[in-house]
Amino acid sequence: MKKSKPIRRQLAKQRRLTEKEEIEMLKQWIEFGKPDPGLNPLSLPPLPDDSPVGKLDEHTFSRYAGCQLFNQLPLSRNTKDGLRNSKFEKMTDVQRASLPHSLCGRDILGAAQTGSGKTLAFLIPVLEKLYKERWGPEFGVGCIILSPTRELATQLFGVLNSVGKYHGLSAGLLIGGRKGVDTEKERVHELNILVCTPGRLLQHMDETTNFECSQLQILVLDEADRILDAGFKKEVNAIISQLPRTRQTLLFSATQTKSVQDLARLSLKDPEYLSVHEEATTATPENLVQTATVVPLHQKLDLLWSFIKSHLKSRVLVFLTSRKQVKFVFEAFKKLRPGIPLKCLHGKMNQEKRLGTYSQFCDEHAVLFSTDVSSRGLDFDKAVDWVVQVDCPPDVATYIHRVGRTARYNSGGKAVLFLEPSEIKMLDKLREAKIPIVERKVNKEKLQPIAVQLADKLARFPEMRQLAQRAFITYLKSISKEKDKEIFDVMKLAIDEFSASLGLPLTPKIRFFNGKSMAKSSSKVGPTIDLEESAAENLLETSGMVGSESSEDESDSDLLGKETSAEAMPQKPDIEALVPVTRVLKKKKLKINVNRPTGKRVVFDEEGNDLPPLAAIADRAGGNTSKIDEVKVLERYKKEREKLKEADKEDKLHGRQRLKEIKMKKKAKLKRGMPDEDEEDSDGEAVAPRLNKKTKLYSDSESEDKDTVAKRNKLSLEAQEALALKLLGSMHD
Ligand code: AMP
Repeated sequence: MKKSKPIRRQLAKQRRLTEKEEIEMLKQWIEFGKPDPGLNPLSLPPLPDDSPVGKLDEHTFSRYAGCQLFNQLPLSRNTKDGLRNSKFEKMTDVQRASLPHSLCGRDILGAAQTGSGKTLAFLIPVLEKLYKERWGPEFGVGCIILSPTRELATQLFGVLNSVGKYHGLSAGLLIGGRKGVDTEKERVHELNILVCTPGRLLQHMDETTNFECSQLQILVLDEADRILDAGFKKEVNAIISQLPRTRQTLLFSATQTKSVQDLARLSLKDPEYLSVHEEATTATPENLVQTATVVPLHQKLDLLWSFIKSHLKSRVLVFLTSRKQVKFVFEAFKKLRPGIPLKCLHGKMNQEKRLGTYSQFCDEHAVLFSTDVSSRGLDFDKAVDWVVQVDCPPDVATYIHRVGRTARYNSGGKAVLFLEPSEIKMLDKLREAKIPIVERKVNKEKLQPIAVQLADKLARFPEMRQLAQRAFITYLKSISKEKDKEIFDVMKLAIDEFSASLGLPLTPKIRFFNGKSMAKSSSKVGPTIDLEESAAENLLETSGMVGSESSEDESDSDLLGKETSAEAMPQKPDIEALVPVTRVLKKKKLKINVNRPTGKRVVFDEEGNDLPPLAAIADRAGGNTSKIDEVKVLERYKKEREKLKEADKEDKLHGRQRLKEIKMKKKAKLKRGMPDEDEEDSDGEAVAPRLNKKTKLYSDSESEDKDTVAKRNKLSLEAQEALALKLLGSMHD
């Protein structure tokens, strides 16, 4: 058994630490690498034997979910020595699957056959838990391991003695049929780990005066199905009722009988269901039908819509990458009325609301749009007919986690993954990970395009437009941030088409932190958007003020502008983060920068919604702004100018009228020697001394108002005219 260099180094380092330091280090390591709940570590690519182990730098530790050797796990040196002493080096499947979860303190419901190595799968977390709690003889019973038969209990007691021999813990074997129950009674309260059959343990609970388990840290039910088959159900329930509820529970069973599930419901908290049968050949449940379909980004929503429309009698769980996408797709589809209830789950919802949404979803045929984060911790057992992954998962593990929401245990399920052509390599990765996934082509005849309807909704509901813009931005941002560059390449995405598919009239423009812009060569340049904040709240701001900035952008290398193949890219941009161009403009909302060289103007539709300048006259369906009829543009501008003039006239007239009325009112009051109504104090008495002063002030401010209004109106009109002319000029360029 030759250890690799990193392992030797880690062991040596660990030996130099004090017990307290070692415990601290182990806790940090465990916390750092916690596997996602629901993830079966067997699905992860195995960690090579010689990869770095332990603390890598100040804040980083090595991965332990997916590792193959005990020495790669965050275990105490005492346990590692015990394992080495017993010649255990490489983990069995059940150990690889369960230890990363159980070491984090999670409850486990593991399905594992006898002989699969499950004894170590629960003994190791038992030793580690008590060690990290610095458990000593004086603390009493810290762990109870229940076994169905005396033989099995004796066997595992032997393993415990050998693997745990370097720990300073005391253990006892309490099994029926043995003499010396009185001696046991005298000593049982001193024992830290009890290995017992249910009957004998209950006997001590009932008869031994100073026996108590109130401090119990961890309970193990080994071969729970056999325990219950042997007719111990009553005993087991009685035992469990005397144990503290705050504890870790590890339950291993070869079969998931009904009674095991009942038991699990009684005593387990959010357990990790780990199914590990030695004969398993696939990483995902066998009763899960998995399909992948290649679809360009801009047709994903069409496909999703068509899918939903053809599955109105199903429970469909739809995964999208970000909360903003979830919100947009949910709201947009709601407006399009698919004929099936729609729900959404996202990270900003509190647990209660999430559970509410979840239970509604379980009760009816519905579509639930969700992010990965929000689906965690919810057990969709039996509820989900379809898992649809609209966005490619970042890795195989996430894929398995998502599809694991359906086909849990014995119920069947189906899953479909939408893959952008540039993400096709994901399919190989899934197949490498033993996932039986079949590729199927989209039936184009059945595809229902929805971009036009979406564009219409966006034009009518400004808040929808904001959601769409944010969904657009966050999607690109998430792709650019994906670690697996073999699969995810933001440069390969047709962003104009993507933008149009969300119903956006213009493609929002994005810039990278490093100054590189994400504009395109297309004539459709939309507003530049703030990713994090509310700059997109007002298109007047974003479209009206980007002029000078966007002209600067043009000098930056256009990341998505040119139709350059990925190979020809000079270098990958720093895609750590995509940031908006307009950050600096946040405070200047609702102003028009009249000095900007050229830019975009704001057009309002009949309902007063601001439209991007060319959207109103562009060919909506085709969205082809390059075919704009210039005459139409000029006419439109003329009309707009007329409208503005009219409005201006009306404003002035209205202002004058109001002023006249106020003056007349004031005169009448003065004549009657009465104060203004609002100058009365609480008793209704006139406040004479203030009357004149106030009246004068009022009158001044009114005349000021008049000037200001007039000036503003004038400026506004002039500015608008100048802008219109500039825009016209720029369009002719
Ligand atoms: P169990 O399922 O715990 O009864 O284990 C079945 C057999 O597998 C026992 O003989 C164990 O000693 C052996 N075993 C368990 N884990 C390992 C391991 N990681 N490497 C080698 N043998 C193991």
